[in-house]
Amino acid sequence: MNEPIAARIDIGGILDPRSVAVFGASDNTDKFGGRIIYYLTRHGFPGHVLPINPNRDTVRGLPAYPSIAAAPGPVDVAILAVPPQALLDAVAECAAAGVGACVIMTTGFAETGDAAGAERQRRLVEIARASGMRIVGPNCMGLIAPRAHMALTSSLVLEIEAIRQGRVGLISQSGALMVSIFNRAHDAGIGFSACVSLGNQSDLEICDVLDWMIDDPGTDIICLYVEGLVDGARFFRAAARAREVGKPLLMVKTGRTEAGVRAARSHTASLAGSYRVFAAACRSLGVLLTDDPDGMVRAADLIRRWPRPPGAGIGVLSPSGGGSGIGVDRVSEAGLRVAELCAATKGKLLQVLLPPQADNPIDLGGRRSGDSVGVAGQCAAIMAGDPDVGIMFIVLTTVPFYEATTKALAEAALASGKPVVVAVTPGSAADGPRRVLREVGCPYFDTVDDGLRALRLLTARHESLALPPAAERPAGPAPAGPPPAAGRLTEPEAKALAARYGVPVTRETLAASADAAVAAAAAIGYPVVLKGVARALVHKSDMGVVRLGLADAAAVRRAFGAVEAILRGDLSVGAFEGCLVQEMARGEAEVILGIRRDPQFGPVVLAGMGGVLVEIADDIEVAPAPLSRAAARAMLGRLRFWPVLAGVRGRPPLDVDALVDAIVALGWLAVDLGDRLVDLEMNPVFVRAAGKGIVAVDARGEIAG
Ligand code: ADP
Ligand code: MG
Repeated sequence: MNEPIAARIDIGGILDPRSVAVFGASDNTDKFGGRIIYYLTRHGFPGHVLPINPNRDTVRGLPAYPSIAAAPGPVDVAILAVPPQALLDAVAECAAAGVGACVIMTTGFAETGDAAGAERQRRLVEIARASGMRIVGPNCMGLIAPRAHMALTSSLVLEIEAIRQGRVGLISQSGALMVSIFNRAHDAGIGFSACVSLGNQSDLEICDVLDWMIDDPGTDIICLYVEGLVDGARFFRAAARAREVGKPLLMVKTGRTEAGVRAARSHTASLAGSYRVFAAACRSLGVLLTDDPDGMVRAADLIRRWPRPPGAGIGVLSPSGGGSGIGVDRVSEAGLRVAELCAATKGKLLQVLLPPQADNPIDLGGRRSGDSVGVAGQCAAIMAGDPDVGIMFIVLTTVPFYEATTKALAEAALASGKPVVVAVTPGSAADGPRRVLREVGCPYFDTVDDGLRALRLLTARHESLALPPAAERPAGPAPAGPPPAAGRLTEPEAKALAARYGVPVTRETLAASADAAVAAAAAIGYPVVLKGVARALVHKSDMGVVRLGLADAAAVRRAFGAVEAILRGDLSVGAFEGCLVQEMARGEAEVILGIRRDPQFGPVVLAGMGGVLVEIADDIEVAPAPLSRAAARAMLGRLRFWPVLAGVRGRPPLDVDALVDAIVALGWLAVDLGDRLVDLEMNPVFVRAAGKGIVAVDARGEIAG
């Protein structure tokens, strides 16, 4: 095997190069190369710029070279937006000339999805790997390095006067999204430490840049737009390290939906993992997932300013009843918590507000005294001072003395040191207040939705600060028994395995004959359930081999004969192994519990609404195993189905504690099975009223060799 060639340059070098060669550079800004060199020189890059163009002596007053070989070297970075047919030769010339890294905007590689594109990309990487030259792209939009006054992109978003410097790092798989995010952020006054688009990640990939940003002293917080990860395990190692060094990681990941998965595949040639498992793993590492790239960067700016929101309770304040009503409704609908003001806070508010308004939300319309500006400031200060208020949310509708009131509200809220989010609801009528908010340095959004996204991420950040509760093995003797054999598990085998870990299952006996079934039924007590057992059997009731509510020996005998006939008549289900006779169980709700090993993220536990509607309900939560009781409970709490477990509309609260026990136990089973676990699923698990326990009535599973 060849020795791996050492890289000629690292990410830091690429973001702060001494020299940059621009292929196809010209004075014509209608051309890619023309725009690249224009933006590179316009924003004051202090390094050496080398235009490569066989048809020009000079470009923008700089001496041009007919080829990279003819240019004075060594060149740190070359940027190429040349036509696809010329690209490989150009890259080979760069490698021969000792170029450190090529930033390749050219398209037509693995993202095409065809064999020719994949082959072109393979050759590209081969050239790079043989020389130690690095590649950013292809199919990217370059990079922007504000600290080096360097824009290496053809995007017209660089028409701006100056590149803002900042402390937010941006890594985007999509080039087009990177530049549009950059542009929006610029307009919002947010600067970056570096913006890098990776395109097809053919050589340098997202995690290379991420690892660099985690160590970069100029980056405080990192935003990622990801379609597919080259190495999921590496990403989670990086995320854990970001958490250790205290750098928040925000992320938009496409591939959340089936359509998104297709888009992600065709876009950049990398496969999206199962989003649910991914999201669960992110949550456990404090990675803040969101849905909108611009919103992500706006929120990053807030979290950079308030990295430790003191609580998740939200104080809602508005100059109007409409604003406070909308604010509080939307906050609770978003699953966020409306803070509960303490008696002392309410007492202070009562001195300036009328009784119905002296609570959360505050409607400033109901004030006692006439000094509306003064009262606004007082109320904001009092509310923000409440111990349960972690974040202030001001819904700024119009109000008399608009600018003065805005100033008073914002200054008083900011003085608390807690995060403040303002949603400015009017249009141009609020341009003055917007200016005031900018002057006092108060973040604002133009829609309640955008404000809510920021609130959600601030809340998630607060929650991520709490150390995850340690997963501890339940007390008692360690589960004992022989390791399960490889292959599919029948219902009784899967249940027996779960039962070793303390998961309650139906009392049952596998009977090989009708006589044995009758004897088993007598021992269990009527009525009983009888189910056919065969190894490759999947949906038992669909095949008519689940017989419920059998009341006597004659019924058991008849059921046995019928089920045996069905199974012996269908070779696809495997050999008939007998009938399972089990107690007839009862419950108030049906839940699905399962474990599986994700190839990228390892063992996970899932829980959700169970029964025959499981696919339609699609109400499933996932968490990495092992997990603590607190994590198991939180997982149940995130289900839409949760109110059924908690007790609604006169229904009794159900035995959540027993469910939590089972989830924790299954997590340990998943851990102990290790690589041998494919999956194990129990559907349904009957949940009874609080204190009355749960019981798994069905189970299936598969074990690897
Ligand atoms: P499958 O899912 O393979 O069709 P199940 O064993 O889940 O078969 O049985 C189908 C349904 O029958 C269950 O969803 C449940 O409602 C009911 N059932 C199964 N076993 C029992 C039992 N022991 N007690 C009460 N109901 C049961
Ligand atoms: Mg079932």
